[in-house]
Amino acid sequence: MSDCCSQPGLMPIEAARAALLEDLAPVAGTESIPLAQATGRVLAQPVASTVCLPPCDNSAMDGYALRIADLDSGMPLELIGYSFAGKPFDGIVNPGTCVRIMTGAALPDGADTVVMQEQVTTQGESIFIGGKVRPGDHIRRCGEDVAEGETLLDSGARISVAHIALLAAAGIGEVSVQRRPVIALFSTGDELRQPGEPLGKGDIFDSNRIALLAALAELDLEVLDLGILPDDKDVIRDNLARAAREADAIITSGGVSVGEADYTREVLEEMGEIGFWKVAMKPGKPFAYGRLQGTPFFGLPGNPVSALITFQQLAVPALTVMKGSAWAAPVQLQARLQKPVKKKPGRTDFQRGIYLRDESGNLCVEPVGAQGSHILSGLADANCLIVLSRDSGNAEAGDMVDIEPLATPLDL
Ligand code: AMP
Ligand code: MG
Repeated sequence: MSDCCSQPGLMPIEAARAALLEDLAPVAGTESIPLAQATGRVLAQPVASTVCLPPCDNSAMDGYALRIADLDSGMPLELIGYSFAGKPFDGIVNPGTCVRIMTGAALPDGADTVVMQEQVTTQGESIFIGGKVRPGDHIRRCGEDVAEGETLLDSGARISVAHIALLAAAGIGEVSVQRRPVIALFSTGDELRQPGEPLGKGDIFDSNRIALLAALAELDLEVLDLGILPDDKDVIRDNLARAAREADAIITSGGVSVGEADYTREVLEEMGEIGFWKVAMKPGKPFAYGRLQGTPFFGLPGNPVSALITFQQLAVPALTVMKGSAWAAPVQLQARLQKPVKKKPGRTDFQRGIYLRDESGNLCVEPVGAQGSHILSGLADANCLIVLSRDSGNAEAGDMVDIEPLATPLDL
């Protein structure tokens, strides 16, 4: 990776992200899994359709299949059979005849048009057609959705529920996907307790690891959960060594700042190599990236908002690449700031905000109360990050600012 440590001061977030993306590669290994279990997984090989879709011309309506030329005479047509979905009519629609047809049923040979049943009156086997009919009406054409052999998804695609519908429709039962990277995870801090345990004076609950476990599960990664480690160099050393042996990447929180008990970075420096440390972002400055016996290491800050925002902004792009996908920058929108915000030039600021439409329909955004890197309630209330560029200063009410909407659970 580039020699970013030689740069004095803080590393711009764009440079930090670019360095991570350049330094990382997909983990080796693939597996074949049933399609229904493939949401969130990354395709290891392109998938082509085994059929065309629809597989044959079929009816888009409940009605009658006929020859349009027969309608010129105004004479009734003779009903000669039925075509149901899964039970096609296997005769031929000859001149003067028609076939009752249901939605999804194969269009019989000879027929070129479907008339919906609301336009039809019947007298025994005699069928009278009324209203306007155009040639080819209400027919779903063979292959109009997908051609046989067409590539449906390329390798590297992250499989969504909609993809699964498409692949199932195309006859794909199993898919070859990238192996899930294994992520070793631990928190450091003598003050940390597992939620549910008693809290002594000065203790806090370990929210970072629990939130990161949830986030890693959502990203469909496997986790080697090494728990809460004390501020003890030997323990950190042992766990880092195990993590480097057993996992594809290591994520820690805490101990990467400049306090007296901030040992994680120190131990990492001693056992491996730090690629960069300290990013020009707020929250989240003390983010460390490095390698330990080849295993990538992401040292997140301890402060809970910093931990999650550095995870989202820096670790997620890196993990996306390790999973075998290309990382795409999240969509940013522009919104009008409803309240002034204070900012010093020098770091990209990710303020937690709520965006909505005002009475005139314009997108606007309001920062959620206090912005301290320990204020988890604000992060929980936010539906977007307000991204204020590194060199910008204070922003005033009425200014247009960039926002990054936070993901919604419906991932179609
Ligand atoms: P550190 O980076 O270890 O100096 O921690 C910075 C701040 O984050 C301190 O207030 C810690 O108590 C807090 N902190 C560290 N780790 C966690 C964690 N896993 N969950 C919640 N808060 C934490
Ligand atoms: Mg600590």
